[in-house]
This record gives sequence, structure tokens and C-alpha cells, in this order.
Amino acid sequence: MIPLTNRSKTVSNKKMTFAERLYLPGIVSGMFITLKHFFRKKTTIKYPEKKREFAEIYRGRHVLKRDDEGRERCTACGLCALACPAEAITMVAEERKPGEEHLYREEKYAKIYEIDMLRCIFCGLCEEACPKEAIFLTKETVISGFHRDVFIYGKDRLVESADPDKRIDITKRLTPEVIEFKKDKKQRHNRK
Ligand code: SF4
Ligand code: SF4
Repeated sequence: MIPLTNRSKTVSNKKMTFAERLYLPGIVSGMFITLKHFFRKKTTIKYPEKKREFAEIYRGRHVLKRDDEGRERCTACGLCALACPAEAITMVAEERKPGEEHLYREEKYAKIYEIDMLRCIFCGLCEEACPKEAIFLTKETVISGFHRDVFIYGKDRLVESADPDKRIDITKRLTPEVIEFKKDKKQRHNRK
């Protein structure tokens, strides 16, 4: 018969030695494994004095991006909310009024946009679903809190700063195919 695993051992009825009856071989081999780990490089760090560096493509808290002219990119189409498996995103859309062209890129914008960070599983599907390159995940983590309401992130915490020097760089998250596509000015998507 073919064995199911190569780790199986045949049970022996051999009488135990005196040392085995005192568990000595087991204790010695256990201590040896413990000692071996003493001299290995530690995988833990002394947080919060030391902070671990996250990868550029780490999926942390979201940012709602502005375009080069500082206008909000989100058009409140709802595709991110539809793609979200955790139903963490809610929004209320509003028509852009004459004179607000400098604030919102599209004719419709999100008057209210909220993400419940307690529901979010940081899968990144909202980022993938967005046709306006308006929402991205960042390498920033969500700060802990004692009350549930502090985990509802509204536009005040999601929309990036209008100051060009404080913009959040998301280029590292773009795949080479997307970067190549964005160079093509024949595409209407890239002209605005
Ligand atoms: S990262 Fe995933 S779970 Fe979180 S809001 Fe986006 S789609 Fe929803
Ligand atoms: S973030 Fe993107 S997908 Fe979500 S509502 Fe705004 S434009 Fe649509």
C-alpha cells in the first residue's frame, strides 16, 4: 500500500530506557531548539519607539485624490461602493453648480463620502473599480480609537490636501500598463 505521507512513523513497542522514562532526550532536544532561536535575528521590533517601514504598495487607509489643478476627482458614480465586498462605502451625490468648476472636476461630485474603517478589509477593490483615479489606498494605517464613530472617515480625512506640496504620491501603486496608458493623450481619459 502507498503511504499517504512520508512523515509517518511505525509505532514500536520497544521498552523505554531509563533516560527516556525521565523524558531526558525530549528535554535536551527541546532546550536545543530554544537555544538555537536565541541567536537568530529577531523578527519583532520595539514598537512604538521603532516603526516598521511599509511597502509602497501596502494597502492602508484611503485617500481621495485631487487633479493637477486641485479639483476633487471623485464624481460620485458609486462604482467603488458597488465593488466593495464589505459595504463600507457610502456617499451622497450633488450636482456641481456654476462657479464651482475650480473645486470639482466633473459635473457631479460627492457631497458626502464616508468609509467605515471597521468594516473595510483593505482589499483594494474600490481602487480598482474607480474610473476617475479618485480613490487609492495608501501606506498610512488607521489609527486606533475607543469609539466606533472615530472609524467613520469622511471627506475631511479622506480628501488630500489642496497644497501641491502635501499631495500623496500614488505613482508607485500604478502598474506599468497603467503608466503607459496614461501617456496616451489620444485617450479622452488622459486629456482632462
Ligand atoms: S478596500 Fe475593499 S473593503 Fe475597504 S472600502 Fe475598498 S473595496 Fe471596501
Ligand atoms: S471614488 Fe471613484 S468609483 Fe468611487 S464614487 Fe468616486 S469616482 Fe466613483
